[in-house]
Amino acid sequence: MAEGNCAGQAPDLFFPSDGVGVEVAKKVCIGCPSTEACLEYALTYRIEHGVWGGCSERQRRRILKARRLAVQSEAVNA
Ligand code: SF4
Repeated sequence: MAEGNCAGQAPDLFFPSDGVGVEVAKKVCIGCPSTEACLEYALTYRIEHGVWGGCSERQRRRILKARRLAVQSEAVNA
């Protein structure tokens, strides 16, 4: 994050309380060189709150669900 677009931004910006705030935070993430690492960190450590890697909490839940389903599908098809 030290090299991300959010360096120097107020941390509160990334923990918004409404959808408008989420969109504002996500705009900061656009083009960030740390997007992938940031998102994977949040997914790996199951960080539930805030915008990470340009994704909202809801988007991260969807990604995790899709990954779980993919793993289950691979297991069934193995
Ligand atoms: S993706 Fe967003 S939250 Fe993550 S380091 Fe970049 S600007 Fe910061």
